[in-house]
Amino acid sequence: KDFQSMQLSRPVLKGLQALGYTKPSPIQSASIPIALLGKDIVAGAVTGSGKTAAYMIPIIERLLYRPAKIASTRVIVLAPTRELAIQVADVGRKIGQYVNGLTFGLAVGGLNLRQQEQELKKRPDIVIATPGRFIDHIRNSPSFNVDGVEVLVFDEADRMLEEGFQKEVTEILSLVPTKRQTMLFSATMNSRIKDMIQLSLNKPVRIMI
Ligand code: AMP
Repeated sequence: KDFQSMQLSRPVLKGLQALGYTKPSPIQSASIPIALLGKDIVAGAVTGSGKTAAYMIPIIERLLYRPAKIASTRVIVLAPTRELAIQVADVGRKIGQYVNGLTFGLAVGGLNLRQQEQELKKRPDIVIATPGRFIDHIRNSPSFNVDGVEVLVFDEADRMLEEGFQKEVTEILSLVPTKRQTMLFSATMNSRIKDMIQLSLNKPVRIMI
């Protein structure tokens, strides 16, 4: 099965083509059709599996086909490190490069805080963040709020906990709307991850490749 048969939009197919993605990876074949239905997903996936596109493609499709309820950031992707966040933003921008008006924002440590504040004020559709910096922005930038968030992604959730972000994750979960789609990707599934799944996902479909 190829991307064409997944009934993706033309701009997304064009973006995938520009990236040189012709055939979905196993995690993409398994995740994309389920995520397109709006269901929650838990996926066991390591770096190199193509997990970024596995959630970015259905996210961008959703933004295309469901009009925004309010002018707000609609998607939050949380990553354990700034390197991963920057990489995710890069892949997202490339997949979405032919989608009119699609905007991305980064909220990561080590980059200029004021500049990020200005960026987030414009309420980009998709914000990719590390948990610590994300909390800083919510606390300190009144113009940035998460009331309109429809999709939350935890990328490398196991590393997020290893980096000590448990408290931040819990706080973020208390701030975003409960009615949302949540997707969690993790290379390992220990008891702490299982607790996090319990806390953050609603009847998730489990995808183990
Ligand atoms: P990721 O696991 O998302 O970090 O992706 C790992 C690598 O595989 C990256 O270099 C991607 O650009 C590449 N990649 C992801 N999906 C595909 C695909 N369907 N076809 C070809 N390359 C891909």
